Amino acid sequence: MATEIASQETYDRKFTPASVGAMLGFFGVHIAALGSFWSGVTVEAVIICVALYWIRIFAIGAGYHRLFAHRAYKTGRVFQFILGFMAQSTAQSGLIWWASKHRDHHRYSDTPKDMHSPRQYGFWFSHMGWIWNNQAQEANYDNVPDLTKYPELVWLDNNRFMPAIVLGLACWALAGLPGLFFGFFFSTVLVYHATFTINSMCHVFGSQRYLTGDDSRNNAAMAVLTMGEGWHNNHHYFMASARQGFKWYEWDPTFYLLKGLEKLGIVWDLREPPEHVLAGERGLSSEIKDRVAAQLAATFNVEKLSERTRARWEGTGEAFDEWRHRMAEHLERGREQLPHVELPGLPSADELRTKAQKMFARSPAIDDIVLRARELLRESVALHLAQPVPVR
Ligand SMILES: [Zn+2]
Ligand SMILES: [Zn+2]
Repeated sequence: MATEIASQETYDRKFTPASVGAMLGFFGVHIAALGSFWSGVTVEAVIICVALYWIRIFAIGAGYHRLFAHRAYKTGRVFQFILGFMAQSTAQSGLIWWASKHRDHHRYSDTPKDMHSPRQYGFWFSHMGWIWNNQAQEANYDNVPDLTKYPELVWLDNNRFMPAIVLGLACWALAGLPGLFFGFFFSTVLVYHATFTINSMCHVFGSQRYLTGDDSRNNAAMAVLTMGEGWHNNHHYFMASARQGFKWYEWDPTFYLLKGLEKLGIVWDLREPPEHVLAGERGLSSEIKDRVAAQLAATFNVEKLSERTRARWEGTGEAFDEWRHRMAEHLERGREQLPHVELPGLPSADELRTKAQKMFARSPAIDDIVLRARELLRESVALHLAQPVPVR
């Protein structure tokens, strides 16, 4: 049942010489932030650091994420460029690269093709190890035609570190070396890790209100640090929304600011989740249903179920060996030839439903998921039983 996923691309966690450049850049920014100990920290530098943290967290959330990656609202080309420039001043690579990678994150969420999955690659790789992984650095721009059609965005993306250099120099000019080391570099480090926690923490710690087929979670602390991006399970459930805090008490200042900008006519057409989405009644794609069903089926031991099926079959007095040979003949003609026979040892639909209700958030798709999980188990058990009987 996991064969399809097994054939997908996976990310090599090994360190290679080619990773050195990306690693030097990333740790170079951290080391430069430590330069604050040498330069000292002034009041101006603290003000710049705090301001640049919040302004750029907003630029990442409202720009890179909600606008460029998800097109959750509309704006004009000038404001789009300003947001892209500010977001790129965080030295998190180009805006088109970022959006492309992020669309892949949603498309393959928590499968081996998702480089940001703690489930697949561990916490630290999902947080920052991917940065110096060459496979992860490469992006496929086929999934971002709505961005590559703007020449000014392509230019910005091609000059990915230029905005960071411009901002760094401006901080230096404005507040001297403390402005550069503490104001610019230290706030850049903070923005790095706040952004990365959405990939790492928000796929490990927190609660799942909605069934999304991945590990995305709502995390209030992360929402405070990232101006609303921590409502990550909400976001995976309905990613087209400009609003990520779905309840009135879910702090989402990025959305509040976007509402303010809407009043000023700077942004418009903010997309919000419809009622049935808020109520958790959204239907799931068959891909997600398959993914969740595989998760449910994987909690059963196929060997044990096969033993139970065999024991119950033999109890009925029917010739098990004959049935097994017939299965093997069907299988020779291809796996899809497996007839959907009822196997007496399979868990019942009720049993599967009870387990699913404990494992997953409430969803109207639960009956479909139970059916699919049962199909998967039936197939696995039939395949297992059809194998030649080992000599005992
Ligand atoms: Zn995610
Ligand atoms: Zn997203």
